[in-house]
Amino acid sequence: MLAKRFGNDGKATLPINGQQANAVQAFLKEVDSGRMQIEYTNCVCGADNFEVFANKDRYGIPLQTVLCRSCGQVMSNPRLNKASTEYFYQHHYRPIYVGLEKADEIFFNKQVRHGFRILDFVQAHGIMAQSTVLEIGCGAGGLLWPFKEAGYQCKGIDLGSQYLGIGRQHGLDLACQSSQQLKAETGHTFDVIILSHVLEHFVSMDDELNTVYDLLSENGVLYVEVPGLFNLKHSYECDFLLYLQNAHNYHFNLSLLQNLLADFNLSMVAGNESVQALFIKNVDEVQKAGSQYLPVSEFLQQLEVNRASWNESLKQTKRQAKLDIIAKVNDVLSAYPENSVCLYGTGSHTAHLLSNIERIEVIRSVLTDNDEEVGKHLAGKVTERLSAPYPQAIIISSDTYEESIYRRISHLKNSGVDIITLYR
Ligand SMILES: [Zn+2]
Repeated sequence: MLAKRFGNDGKATLPINGQQANAVQAFLKEVDSGRMQIEYTNCVCGADNFEVFANKDRYGIPLQTVLCRSCGQVMSNPRLNKASTEYFYQHHYRPIYVGLEKADEIFFNKQVRHGFRILDFVQAHGIMAQSTVLEIGCGAGGLLWPFKEAGYQCKGIDLGSQYLGIGRQHGLDLACQSSQQLKAETGHTFDVIILSHVLEHFVSMDDELNTVYDLLSENGVLYVEVPGLFNLKHSYECDFLLYLQNAHNYHFNLSLLQNLLADFNLSMVAGNESVQALFIKNVDEVQKAGSQYLPVSEFLQQLEVNRASWNESLKQTKRQAKLDIIAKVNDVLSAYPENSVCLYGTGSHTAHLLSNIERIEVIRSVLTDNDEEVGKHLAGKVTERLSAPYPQAIIISSDTYEESIYRRISHLKNSGVDIITLYR
């Protein structure tokens, strides 16, 4: 084991509420009764010689996380079998993980912002516009929205239907089906396929990745994003235990992902340790990295030893990012006269900005979409609805709604209004 605290003591490491604790107990009861079944499996490389790293996850659920001594793959073993995994997602996943029953606008906006990052990454590697895009495991489909706006033809599929409605309201083509069902009914392939935070949940890589291969056009690219093991220095409070969750069957660094997809004749053309990576098919020789046993093992041990000090640096970086945004706003405002700029947003980010703005006289008002807030004051500035005569500039100060506000007001640029975003 990595350390004593990874032992199976039934205690949660993540703060969980009473409902979650009950949901964990309900899940464990169904495993004990045999309603849900676990199975042992060989590594994706075929070996079955493992080193045990942990015996519980962050919820205190008994879960053995192992490292393959041959290739270095980190995985849950044993894990729920395929039928029990489907049952788990229908009955236990959301109560334990506190997901939203129905995706709301906030959830959709987060997906849209994430989608912009993926579009940037994909386009930076020379993918042409006007291609067809498929997202497998799309949730509300917000991730596809930036692609749709950029002229791509988009399709999203997901096994759960409850998230699809909001995406459809935004004009996205979303269907409740598996990739195998889509393959059986569609006659065509896709130029871009997106697997974002999906691959680590798969039970059978063979079933899923062979289907993905068949759905990808001859010159297409596959975008894969998974949580990166080496990125734990920048996430999850630098704590491997906070990252472990029983819904994740596999854990990757970039090389492990490269090696897995190489076995399905998909060759990596770009990638980082976040992990984001692009793959293509039809290359003469698919490149593989060496065994990751030592790099991964050494990294996780270093992480465990240094997690307190690394987390302190991480927090410092986040504080600096907030200061950078304030500096950016002050810099922007220096170019405008008095009463000529509005902030769009009324939440905590806007209040924080208002209390740190140097030339507060430049701010004309705070804009809102909520009638109940109209006429109230925030840091001495009146709250109003956006209407003509328009200000010279609008700074979108809402973090949560940045994307949806931007979508609604970006046309004002044609009327000479500067639209300034801070977080995207
Ligand atoms: Zn292996």
